Amino acid sequence: MKPQVAFFDFTSCEGCQLTVVDSLQTHLDLLDMVEIVQFREAMSERGEDYAVAFIEGSITRESDEARLKEIRERAAVLVALGACAHIGGVNAIKNLAPLHDVRKYVYGERAEWFATYAARPISAVVKVDAFIPGCPIDREEFIRVVNALLRGIKPPIPDYPMCVECKLKENVCLFDKGGDCLGAITRAGCGAICPTYGDGCEGCRGLIPNPNRDSMQSVLAARGLTPQDVMARMTMFGSYEISKA
Ligand code: SF4
Ligand code: SF4
Ligand code: SF4
Repeated sequence: MKPQVAFFDFTSCEGCQLTVVDSLQTHLDLLDMVEIVQFREAMSERGEDYAVAFIEGSITRESDEARLKEIRERAAVLVALGACAHIGGVNAIKNLAPLHDVRKYVYGERAEWFATYAARPISAVVKVDAFIPGCPIDREEFIRVVNALLRGIKPPIPDYPMCVECKLKENVCLFDKGGDCLGAITRAGCGAICPTYGDGCEGCRGLIPNPNRDSMQSVLAARGLTPQDVMARMTMFGSYEISKA
């Protein structure tokens, strides 16, 4: 019997699910190895028996918690799919402002109609067995992680900084070109795609273990960024961690 797999979404743009659909189109062999029983983005069936649950999106209201816990109870393996689920992602930017102001800004006079609370990653609510970082996820990394899970081994997610990957590509560092970048504290694995094309890394894959954020902030300040600019860089994807601190 093939392992049964389901995909679920919470607060997200659904870009990671789209990346999964895109990825599976060129990895039909993987589709033969599993049975997808629920995937709203791609099919209408809604099977409730699954061993592996992929969760896209962050948790942004109390009612999300009950739904996520129910999924957790059914799944032997639960995987965070993308930055929103993994680290709170861009949704957590709202955590830096008073919730009432955020609701009013988004929903205007009807703000009280909509339940919401501080955005959080799924690991703040349930145990997470594996994660696929990025905004969106990397299509080939998704395949590597699924293959690892099917073989019962630890998914091969790098825990070294983006700078390693960037240097291996022989890029000239953006700091040497007058720019700035969060590569020194960000988890590698995307092929340093942003610096390679001239944009500073904004940290969508999350922090490396034991990141030296203080030094990173000092380096950015020395580059001439204002405290507001430094904070904007660090909170594009890192708001949940920073709002917790
Ligand atoms: S991680 Fe990015 S691409 Fe994926 S759902 Fe969240 S916002 Fe969309
Ligand atoms: S451009 Fe960014 S990722 Fe590349 S070496 Fe410089 S700081 Fe590191
Ligand atoms: S370089 Fe940074 S911001 Fe760009 S995709 Fe990679 S981790 Fe995300």
